[in-house]
Parts: sequence; C-alpha cells; structure tokens
Amino acid sequence: MFSVYIHVPFCARRCQYCDFITYAGMLDLLPAYVNAAAGELSRLGIAAGKGAAPADTVYFGGGTPSLMNARQVGFLLDATSRTFGIEPGAEISLEANPGTLNLEKLEGFRAGGVNRLSLGIQSFSEAELALLGRSHSRLEAEESIRWARQAGFEQISLDLIFGLPGQSLDAWRKTLLEALQYYPQHLSVYSLIVEEGTPLEKQIANGRLPKPDDDQAADMYELTQQLLAEAGYTQYEISNWALNEGCESRHNKAYWKTTPYLGIGAGAHSFARAWRTENVPGIAEYCARIANWSEDLAFPLSAANSQRTELDLRTQMQECMLLGLRLTREGVSLAEFSRRFGLDAREVFAVEIRRLQQRQLIEFAQFPDGPHIRLTRKGIIVGNQAFMEFV
Ligand code: SF4
Repeated sequence: MFSVYIHVPFCARRCQYCDFITYAGMLDLLPAYVNAAAGELSRLGIAAGKGAAPADTVYFGGGTPSLMNARQVGFLLDATSRTFGIEPGAEISLEANPGTLNLEKLEGFRAGGVNRLSLGIQSFSEAELALLGRSHSRLEAEESIRWARQAGFEQISLDLIFGLPGQSLDAWRKTLLEALQYYPQHLSVYSLIVEEGTPLEKQIANGRLPKPDDDQAADMYELTQQLLAEAGYTQYEISNWALNEGCESRHNKAYWKTTPYLGIGAGAHSFARAWRTENVPGIAEYCARIANWSEDLAFPLSAANSQRTELDLRTQMQECMLLGLRLTREGVSLAEFSRRFGLDAREVFAVEIRRLQQRQLIEFAQFPDGPHIRLTRKGIIVGNQAFMEFV
C-alpha cells in the first residue's frame, strides 16, 4: 500500500477558525506551484527507483484544491503516474469547496481521473457559514452536491463542523439531517477547535462570541453517532462515517494504519522507510527549493524538507497503536502488527493494554485475520485518554 498526498495551499479567503498551511490572495503563484509539485514528484520518483510501489491512493488536499483547473489536476496525476504509477482502481480524491465549483469544472475533474470528491460544506446554516468566515453560501453548498452527482461522482464525502459558538443542539441536528437528505457515501464530522492566533479565538477572547461549550459539543457528538447510525452509516473512525466499507476513505485509512505515504507540496508531511518528514510551509520558498534542488537525496527525503526524523522501532510501534486505535470499527490487527514488527502487540504494550482494559476504554474483537484491539464505546467518547497511553 502506497499513498500520495498533494497539498494545495491556496484559498479564496481565510476562514475565521483556520490554522492550516494555506494562503489567500496568492492565486497568481498557483501555476508555478503546480510545476514545482510535479518537479518534486519527479525527483522523488527517481530516488525511489524502479522497484517503487505504484500509488493505491492519491489525495489532493488543502487549502482548496478545487481552485485548480482540471488541466492542472490532470497534469499532477500524469506526473504521479509517470513517476510512481497509479494502481488500476486507485482511489483518487480531491477536496473541493462550494463557491469554487461549477458543473463543467467537476466534469473535468472526473474525466481526468478523480473518482472521489470531499466537499467542505461545514454547515447548511447561512448564519453559521458567516460566523465561520466560509466564502460560500448555503445555495452554493447545495449546488455543488447536485453538480458533483451530475458530473458522475459516485463517491461523495461531506465535511461538517459542530460545536460552534452559540450553536444549539437543534441547529446541529438540522445541519446533520439536511446533509443526510443528499445521502452522501461518506461524512467527516469534526468538533470545532478554537486554534490559537485565529480571528475566531480573538473574537471569543474579546467577548464578541461565546466560548463553545464542551458539554454541548459532547452531546452533539453523541447525537451525530445516533442519527448517522439510524441512517445506516457505520462509524469507522473517531470523526468519519461511511455507508459501507467500500465507501471508507482508503487514503485516510492509510494514515491511521501508518502505511507509507508521500506528501508533496508546501507544508506536506511524508512517512516512508521509517522517515517522517515535513516540507517548508511557504509557497515561494517551496518553489525555490524545488527549482534549486541539486543534491541527490535518498527516498523519501526532499529538498523542500524543513524537518526530517528517522523513527526508531519503539516509536513506529507506538504510532501504529496511537493512530490505529482511531479506527473505531477495526482498530489494530494483532496479525498485521506482528507481520510488520515481528512482535506481539500484547507483549510490547502489556502494561498500557491492561490499564486501558481496566478503564474499559479498549476491547479485543474477533476479525477474519484474528483478534484486533479497538476502542470501546466509552473509549470513542474519550479517545484522547486512550491515545495518551501510547505517546
Ligand atoms: S477553506 Fe479550509 S483550508 Fe481554506 S481557509 Fe477555510 S478552513 Fe482553511
């Protein structure tokens, strides 16, 4: 399993709550950035050598990848295909924001090979969209879902956010029920995090907005679990639900299963051959580093890296548990763990597992390949307490 992530750090404008690596008002740099990303792919493909695995998943994330046109998306897919190859039947996802889409553009993405669309809806309430500083309207959200269907997308995911300042349980229920009317194959549902230094944090600090209520957010999460289960969705990760196993995000599961992935672009992260790397966040610096890349580097190292860490075995095993437990349906397969590390997770983490079992946060469940360790219902609610055992 090998995944490629391409970061597109451009947005129409910056949302009030956002602390991602993304920039507004810099769209004139997009063509040069796309070329630089293809250049990074090409250099990494050469370093990986002929035996490199083809990509099972390719993911355009952002930022707002739908600010690219279909030709730019196709160009980056061609670059991926030429350097690593793309498996037949690979999952090719693109994050898109309403307000940057039309039917023709979506048809172009689909014709170019994108087969999964992740739409940043966040809310169906006009007032909540304004509070979040989203650049789209409720009507644009509705249109984008309709156009995505018309363009032939059979895998559509909707992103929603709850726990907004002043949001009532009923208002959240309304957004959720409205999302369900579209019967998306997948839903990503996140609790709003008030990040330091964001305009939203300042508005809360100076009393212009109420502080989100943690207990209310917990109720909203439980309501989400209940309503989505009733509508036939299975929760397979702390924040993700799918209509069936075939609709789960293969790309995101690759992160949680800590299988190798390559991150291309400004601020992108990679994990391969025990290296975890991070690229410089600035668009201009990223493009310059790729243009001036002269030294030969071993795969997956890139001239754009600002950080490189070679993980020891213990850290890799901890990450495997920490991230694998996020997969609420399947958790961590003991057979897979032992195939990968040559050790039994029950022995390596005997103390941690015993403590978590005593607190009823994890359980063993039987799967076709043997036992898996996963979070209990209580563990899902307080996931962070379980993950802390493996930090
Ligand atoms: S669209 Fe997404 S990445 Fe862009 S500013 Fe808003 S939250 Fe951040």
